[in-house]
Amino acid sequence: MPAHPTDDWQFLTRPISMRVRIFPNALPPSMPELPEVETTRAGLAPHLIGRRITGITLRRPDLRWPIPEAIEQRLPKQKIVDVRRRAKYLLIDTAPGSALLHLGMSGMLRVLPKRTPVEAHDHVDIALDSGCVLRFTDPRRFGCLLWQPAGAMHELLQNLGPEPLSDAFDGDYLFSRSRGRRAPAKTFLMDQGIVVGVGNIYAAESLFRAGIAPGREAGEVSRARYARLAAAVKDILAFAITRGGTTLRDFLSPDSAPGYFEQELFVYGREGEPCKVCGRPLRGLRLGNRATAWCSRCQR
Ligand SMILES: [Zn+2]
Repeated sequence: MPAHPTDDWQFLTRPISMRVRIFPNALPPSMPELPEVETTRAGLAPHLIGRRITGITLRRPDLRWPIPEAIEQRLPKQKIVDVRRRAKYLLIDTAPGSALLHLGMSGMLRVLPKRTPVEAHDHVDIALDSGCVLRFTDPRRFGCLLWQPAGAMHELLQNLGPEPLSDAFDGDYLFSRSRGRRAPAKTFLMDQGIVVGVGNIYAAESLFRAGIAPGREAGEVSRARYARLAAAVKDILAFAITRGGTTLRDFLSPDSAPGYFEQELFVYGREGEPCKVCGRPLRGLRLGNRATAWCSRCQR
């Protein structure tokens, strides 16, 4: 099974009206990043935990990958005992196993009254004894719905680095993992085997705050600078989670709070504009096919 796509999404399009609403500064549309997934998890959990699943409706046999038979065979009648997140995956736990969901590039999960009309791209309904359905909508179908038997770990979750907000992720960890690495610092930070869920926006912003040039060899960065970087990653992700993520997308319900994080961006999407700290025009750099803006005075 191939790895999930990283965030090479810059060239995707969304309806114009949505793009204008989401990105007043003409930033490109964004796929769900860790803060959006965590916001989704926290929003779903009170509607799901303790509820019994009364039925599964699959309107197509596959998303990014085929939906395994176990979803229809094992989930009905089960009680949901927890809703967890690992990296950008959501796990809906029941006694025999977990539904493993990824929102891909355009996925959305909502809890809706069960009579809510089905629209295009509403691929999966998980009906609950509350009279609601958990509806998975995904126009581009890069998301997935898979099965993880109890006591096992799905192969997609194996070989992942620590969670960025966990104690296991700190400057000493980054320092030790980076020794001998010639990859650019930004590429290193976005490697899911090093740390999960630091997408393009968060990597660019964290490196700016830590004063590390994105193209600097990872193995050349000092322990003290990695301590600043780890702290910046934690601060920025935690802040984004409190704002509901970087985008205004309504993952949960029409009344979910919009995020205005994009107004706080220092470098992401700002190539050519003046640095908010020193005033020098931000430079552009391409790393791993992604555009990166950075300040050659503030970042070394
Ligand atoms: Zn600067």
